[in-house]
Amino acid sequence: MLMQTWSFFKKSLANNIFRGLELREFSVFYQPKMDMETRKIKGLEALARWHSPGIGWIPPSEFIPIAESTGAIIDLGEWVLFSACEQMKHWRENGFSEISVSVNLSPTQLEEKNLISSVEDILAKTGVEPRLLELEITESVFIKDSSRALAVIKELKKLGVRLAIDDFGTGYSSVGYLTAFPFDCLKIDQSFSRTIQLPQTQVVIRALTSLSRQLGLTTVLEGVESETEMVMAGHLGCDQIQGYAVGRPMQANAVTLKMRDFQMNSATLPLLE
Ligand code: C2E
Ligand code: CA
Ligand code: CA
Repeated sequence: MLMQTWSFFKKSLANNIFRGLELREFSVFYQPKMDMETRKIKGLEALARWHSPGIGWIPPSEFIPIAESTGAIIDLGEWVLFSACEQMKHWRENGFSEISVSVNLSPTQLEEKNLISSVEDILAKTGVEPRLLELEITESVFIKDSSRALAVIKELKKLGVRLAIDDFGTGYSSVGYLTAFPFDCLKIDQSFSRTIQLPQTQVVIRALTSLSRQLGLTTVLEGVESETEMVMAGHLGCDQIQGYAVGRPMQANAVTLKMRDFQMNSATLPLLE
């Protein structure tokens, strides 16, 4: 695509994102994370979904990068955070008072000066306990300006929210980030689940879970699709798993049903030896 056409396309998509937000074309889906010990749903990840009447479903892999590069992610990210907190309030009123929700924070949001007050505001408005909100950050934020990122992350931490490092093990992952930043959770990238049968992948996962445990972090393996992968994740020391084997991202009411299911019958999934 010609540079001019590309930038025009990007601009028009960004405008569509703003319009889509106004027209309520966006929704938030939730994907469950399962605790390996209790085999209960411990938390959920909030994932943005866009259904445009003219186009149909547009995948996040297409609209998130555009939203990031055009700044539309500031509005979209704030909307996702607010929606997720509102939904948590609803779940709390319906007996799920300990369910935690993770929301993705993009690098552009971390650079935005109103981020801290916006998170604080949303927590106050919805009455969500900060300890039940987790913010997922990818390591790309440290590459650009790590001292500024550290300052923002420390401010977020002061609010009492949990912080997760997302997609760990891809790109420029450095274990140094784990000690330098006040993270609570390490999310191992789903590419490790894809190759979990390989001895070298198992060595890396085991090293990460052991390191993470010694640093007091929770480890989540992402993209766990099969029962074999699930069993292996347990053997390798992962505290939680997320992936199609537990559940796909789904609408809030479907998650409520799933959580009820797990509450009543924790043996819905095969027990690990
Ligand atoms: P992510 O944060 O790594 O989210 C996990 C992605 O993996 C989701 O894709 C989820 O549907 C997919 N996934 C989960 N389990 C499995 C599995 O077992 N197998 C496979 N093959 N895939 C699985 P999704 O929803 O398409 O989102 C893609 C990315 O878009 C996310 O990756 C995240 O980086 C970004 N994203 C989505 N929603 C938001 C948002 O509200 N804000 C920001 N900043 N980024 C978002
Ligand atoms: Ca994530
Ligand atoms: Ca991830």
